[in-house]
Amino acid sequence: MSPTDLNANLVRLRGELLKHRDLCNACLSRHNTSLGQAIPLAMNLPLSLATSSDALESIWGAQTIKSQRDLNGGLSKKKSDGSYTDEVILHTDDDVFFFAGPFRYPVNSGPCGLIFSPEIESKLSNRKIATPFDSGGLLNHFKPLNTSLTPIEFVRANEMPVPDYRTYLGEFIATTFHEPTDYLHDDNAPACDTPMLVKSKDPNADARQWTFEVRCQGPVPMDAPLMAIIIERALAQSGDWAEDMMMVLKSRGVVFTLFDTVDGSDWEILKEQGQKFLDQHIRQVVTHGPL
Ligand SMILES: [Zn+2]
Repeated sequence: MSPTDLNANLVRLRGELLKHRDLCNACLSRHNTSLGQAIPLAMNLPLSLATSSDALESIWGAQTIKSQRDLNGGLSKKKSDGSYTDEVILHTDDDVFFFAGPFRYPVNSGPCGLIFSPEIESKLSNRKIATPFDSGGLLNHFKPLNTSLTPIEFVRANEMPVPDYRTYLGEFIATTFHEPTDYLHDDNAPACDTPMLVKSKDPNADARQWTFEVRCQGPVPMDAPLMAIIIERALAQSGDWAEDMMMVLKSRGVVFTLFDTVDGSDWEILKEQGQKFLDQHIRQVVTHGPL
C-alpha cells in the first residue's frame, strides 16, 4: 500500500473519531480531559513481542526476528489441516508482529517477552504499518462493523503509517478510556464501544480488539532499540545460551526481568510483568519527559 493510501486511512480514521465525539458527550468530555496525558503516553509507548523460549533461542542465534514466511523457507505456511495460515490469507506473513503496549497474543509454552523502545519505528528502515486492532483476530474472533469489505480488504482499509498512527492512538485512548493508562490493562475495556472498528464474535475476543498492532517487514534485527527482556528465572539461570544473551545485552543497557512460574500460569505472569514494566516506563516519561 502506498504511503498516500496509508495517510488517507489515518486522516479518515481521525475524522471518524472526531465525528463520534460530536455525537457522544461522554467521549468528548473524556477526550478534552485526557488528551494532555494520552498524547505523551501514545508517543512513548514501547512495542512488545511475546515469543516462546525456543523461538527466542533461535532469534538470539540469528540475531534477527524473522517473519513467518522467512521461518518457512520463503514459502506460504500451511496449518496442520492443510489450509493456509491467517497471516498468509491476510498477506501479512512477511511481517514481524508487535503490539503497541502490553503483550497480548498468548504464547502457551515457555513464554518470554521482548519490549522495544518506540524509537524502533524511526530507526528501522523496514516497511512498517499499524492497525487499530489485532489483524489476525479478524478471521476468528472479531467482525468488522458497518462494512461489506472482506477481512483482507478491511485490514488494508485501516492500515496507517508508522509512527504517525500514534497521534490517532493518543486520540483513541483519550476518547474511549476512563483513564489513559487503562489502555495498558486488559481488564479495563474502553468505556464507549462505538469508536472500536471491530466487535467480538465470540467470548474469546479480548483486548486485541482495541490493541494497536504494528507490523514490520521481516527480518528485524534483534537488538533494534531493545529495552527489556522478560524471561523465566530457570531459563535465565540454566547456564546455557540465555546466560550469554543476558551478559551481552545487559552490557548494552537492556533490562532483564526474571519471573518464577507457578502452576502453568506462565503466560499470565509474563503479561503481568510486562504491564508492570510499561506502567513504570510510562509513569516516568509522562511525568519527567522522555529519558
Ligand atoms: Zn462514545
